[in-house]
Amino acid sequence: MSCFDREGATPDATTPSAMNTFAQMTPRAPGRTPRELRNGGRVKSGGSAPSGVYLPNNNILTPQMRSPEYVQLSTAAAITLGIMRGNMYRCACTRCLNLLLTYPEGCRANCAYCGLARHREAERDYADRNFIRVDWPAVPIDDIVDIVARDPQASPFHRMCISMITHPRSDDDTLTVLKRWTDRIDPAAIPVSILSNPTTMTRADVERLHELGADIFTVALDAATPALFERTRGKGVQSPHRWDKYWEVLMDARDVFGPQKFGAHIIVGMGESEREVLELIQRIVDLGGHSHMFCFFPERGSLMDHLPATPRDQWRRVQLARYLIDYRDVRVDHMRFDGDGRLVDFGIPAGELDDVIDAGVAFRTSGCPGKFAEDVSACDRPYGDSPPSDIASYPFQPVAVDLKKIRAQLGRTRPGEVYEEGEDIEQFAG
Ligand code: SF4
Repeated sequence: MSCFDREGATPDATTPSAMNTFAQMTPRAPGRTPRELRNGGRVKSGGSAPSGVYLPNNNILTPQMRSPEYVQLSTAAAITLGIMRGNMYRCACTRCLNLLLTYPEGCRANCAYCGLARHREAERDYADRNFIRVDWPAVPIDDIVDIVARDPQASPFHRMCISMITHPRSDDDTLTVLKRWTDRIDPAAIPVSILSNPTTMTRADVERLHELGADIFTVALDAATPALFERTRGKGVQSPHRWDKYWEVLMDARDVFGPQKFGAHIIVGMGESEREVLELIQRIVDLGGHSHMFCFFPERGSLMDHLPATPRDQWRRVQLARYLIDYRDVRVDHMRFDGDGRLVDFGIPAGELDDVIDAGVAFRTSGCPGKFAEDVSACDRPYGDSPPSDIASYPFQPVAVDLKKIRAQLGRTRPGEVYEEGEDIEQFAG
């Protein structure tokens, strides 16, 4: 059975604490990779040919697979397509087909929070690396298109997204993958988003993606301030990205794709203050775009895997405030912050705020919209930023017990209301 018949995740634990500070969230320095293991050396010397679906974690004779013929896809998407077996906690399927370009050389960048980063070359072959907490099986793109093209209108997917990585072939191969999709699947039936890699891109690349039918273009800014960006994605970890280049391409996307059709990904809790991240979100809204947020989670094998996940109270405040800025016309200058930049007043009357909390949408995964509503993301990324036992971004509509937990995390419980730890899990166990 699949979601063309289904969705899954691995439980682990996070410990809420105080706000993650800049001083606290310092990545490890990357180690040296032996020369023979650089640039996919082990995969290339193994010389194994791919056949069909490649499931990660073999790490033995990982085959030489290359985009555009091969792409990786999220575990959730693979289960939804019916090419992997599995179930996901409280999710029938994912609404976004997330694809990732793949090469034996892998991503040539070294972002400190990312499981795909280059410093892992000695430890794990690229196609075996975890990314946003899950494995990414590799499949021929034509096989994926074959399945979806049978009946795009009836597909469980509300959107497809191509994630570029930092690789010399990435710009051209993204175009090829997009064209193979749009040649057979009407983008009006399943719109396409591009999660870009600005470092290698020009404005002409942005234009070409738009001409070929991409609907939304996002930039994975990830870090909320220039100093955090430099420390986690730039020279601080021997990585090639530059804040200014990311903003240049974001502005190109604004011109080419237009209002509401561009945006930025931002990770919350890597050391920025709540005021800093919300000012960034306001800046993007003022430009006409949207922000898609991720809660920092210490990705296994990354240079930040020793650091704490974002405390749930910090995350919930930012998640709620971002929703108000993006969809309720509340401005960051209406909000108030304490001396550490922690949000203390959302800038709207308490009754209105309680209504927004009780609606629950603010706490769902944020991303490009699907077919349900403008403020409901197709990209639900089940358990991409948290374990099911301590959900950060809800990949489904939160129900009463979830909202009770969220209100407790926000310090806004109703009179007489008590959330017992694990109550939500118990309710859905078995
Ligand atoms: S560019 Fe993207 S895929 Fe590559 S290491 Fe950085 S975050 Fe990961």
